[in-house]
Amino acid sequence: MSEALTASRVRVCGIVQGVGFRPFIFQLAEKCRLYGHVANTSSGVDIHVEGAPSRIEAFIDAISAQAPPLAQITAVDARRVDPGHYTEFNITPSRREEGRSALISPDVSICTDCLNELRDPQDRRSGYPFINCTNCGPRFTIIDDVPYDRPKTSMRHFRMCAPCQTEYDNPRDRRFHAQPNACDDCGPQVILEGPNGGVCKGADAVSTTARLLADGKIVAIKGLGGYHLAVDATNDAAVARLRRRKQREEKPLALMAPDLDVIRTFAYIDADEVEVLTSPQRPIVLLRKRRPNAIAPMVSPRNAWFGVMLPYTPLHYLLLAHGFTALVMTSGNLSEEPIAIANADARERLAPIADALLTHDREIYLRCDDSIVRKTDGVTRFLRRSRGYVPVPVFLRRRQPSVLACGAELKNTVCLTKQDRAFVSQHIGDLENLDTYAFFQATIDHLQRVLDITPEILACDMHPDYLSTRYAQERDDLPLVQVQHHHAHVVSTMAENHLEGRVIGLAFDGTGYGPDGTIWGGEVLIAEAGDFERAAYLTPVPMPGSAAAIKEPWRMAVSYLAHTFDDRCYDVDIPFLSTVERRRAEVLVAMGRQGLNAPLTSSLGRLFDGIAALIGLRHRVAFEGQAAMELEMTIAAGDDGLYDFGWKTVGESRRIEIAPIIEGVVADLSQGVSGARISRRFHTTLSALFAALCDEIRSHTGLDRVVLSGGVFQNAVLSTELARRLEQSGFQVYTQRLVPANDGGLSLGQALAAAAIWEGKN
Ligand code: ZN
Ligand code: ZN
Ligand code: FE
Repeated sequence: MSEALTASRVRVCGIVQGVGFRPFIFQLAEKCRLYGHVANTSSGVDIHVEGAPSRIEAFIDAISAQAPPLAQITAVDARRVDPGHYTEFNITPSRREEGRSALISPDVSICTDCLNELRDPQDRRSGYPFINCTNCGPRFTIIDDVPYDRPKTSMRHFRMCAPCQTEYDNPRDRRFHAQPNACDDCGPQVILEGPNGGVCKGADAVSTTARLLADGKIVAIKGLGGYHLAVDATNDAAVARLRRRKQREEKPLALMAPDLDVIRTFAYIDADEVEVLTSPQRPIVLLRKRRPNAIAPMVSPRNAWFGVMLPYTPLHYLLLAHGFTALVMTSGNLSEEPIAIANADARERLAPIADALLTHDREIYLRCDDSIVRKTDGVTRFLRRSRGYVPVPVFLRRRQPSVLACGAELKNTVCLTKQDRAFVSQHIGDLENLDTYAFFQATIDHLQRVLDITPEILACDMHPDYLSTRYAQERDDLPLVQVQHHHAHVVSTMAENHLEGRVIGLAFDGTGYGPDGTIWGGEVLIAEAGDFERAAYLTPVPMPGSAAAIKEPWRMAVSYLAHTFDDRCYDVDIPFLSTVERRRAEVLVAMGRQGLNAPLTSSLGRLFDGIAALIGLRHRVAFEGQAAMELEMTIAAGDDGLYDFGWKTVGESRRIEIAPIIEGVVADLSQGVSGARISRRFHTTLSALFAALCDEIRSHTGLDRVVLSGGVFQNAVLSTELARRLEQSGFQVYTQRLVPANDGGLSLGQALAAAAIWEGKN
């Protein structure tokens, strides 16, 4: 006897749109011999199935178990409904509903199936630079609104030809409802605007671009989330010209290489790195340099690492097939400006830099830079979380009021929360010019629309001069909560690790506004989401020249010497002092003593800078954190002792002494100990110091969870060694894996801290 007819309504939430979910459901329903229908809604995917109960059960089980590769399911809810006596299974048009919360897929790299077609001379899309399917291609950057359907994307201007439309309409085709579906007959086209006003299209444009690059020319190339500036990475003169024209001094330039074997000729890759390099997100991965190598030294000067990515669009694959070891693929902008996305803007802003422009007519609606990651101890750590990852939310421990958090100033991101999800935006950049500020505002508007979030609370930093703070203060439509910078850092780590209650938070950072008017950055907080106290901090020292002391670490070195040796500081016998004019040093010391343009800072980032300058690594930096990075790269292997350390109790807090560390470094220097060994001892000292400090705090408070955050934790040696020591003393240690430890992850912490502070008050 056959089972009775029953029906179920199934709602699937998560990233289920634009990832081939409906054809998957269609085929699954056919396999389970069920009738009914499926539709995209603004909150996810809605399914009605009817048939034998056992087959419905199998169907529901298979939804999560067999979902398409790009789908991320967060919930499957099924309930019994009355049968509609359907005689087939259909895909019905999208419906728009209130309270939408469908998640948008990030942009992902071309899939293997499409890559094979691209390379197949017999395929109708052979060599077509915009080939894609439901498992690959652009998403986030071409969406203007939800639900994700072609008319809501920048593909709306292209009318599909008959063969493309047939694929699009066929639920058994892997291009069924692939919104960017296109071919050479109907879809976007590449155009090369050459050096002398010449224009060519299609395959010609690609091969001519390759020839220009091989000749050492700079070509601006339109990608997924914006333009890149490309040159042949093995051509010294071309790389030098790019740096000069882009006004980028020393910051490493990203590389794109055709495959893993070619990357292995100039960098080391381990199994973990292979996994992330080849992932559909295709981030830039920091890889240790192999020496000697064929890459121009100017690509990543004085650096042990290359930032490398594999091709991720069909166009990249076509270009790199022309025999390049690697192309420099750096963001298409003048230093510090946002990356160009619009063709007219690219023509205007990139013309002085690029010799030619390889563009196309598929618009980018939202700019999205390449993501940058580093693998440490098998864990992917974000230095920049952007293309490929955004807008996947961080899932929170519990529901929150909706918050718009405006982030910091440097490496800005914003964060929007809704229910138990926090959407951290793509990398916006340093909010130091009007173009970036405009991008910041546009991103907020765009994300509010596509994520359908109407914030109830605004959050920002306490720093009065950040443009992000000013934006928040000027919006007078919502209650504003200002969150201390390092509190936000600590809460960011708490948020992604689902921690509640009080923790010990180590916030090691470059710069952050302290409520006492000094600049913080070497802080031990006892923190919970809505509150914190400052349990310990590095002894504040003057930053002579304020921001100039960030660009010129030698100023910090002088300041630490004066702090440690007072008037005797000019007489210590170390090579550093012979490189500094005595009169200039005296001016700095005087500035510090009189508090003239010399704010006090407890920043650990500055201490790294100062030590790097003392051991002669560099006097000036081209970008923030460069000296600290070089101090990490220079480190010697092995155990080499440590410097004295200690702290003084000041009221409820503890002031960590810097003088014993500086004395130790100076003693080593005057005895000719190498910078590598000094760096080793300095790192060991910090681990021992903060582990001991956490021990003491635990003995007073009973807290045994330690949370690490702040830009200094991009230092893999410090974060690994400190975490290990803490774990050996019985602490549970939590770090950041989902968002960057630097200010790129700050907005997440701001959002949760603001919600907690707000809830505490109301
Ligand atoms: Zn594909
Ligand atoms: Zn077509
Ligand atoms: Fe910070």
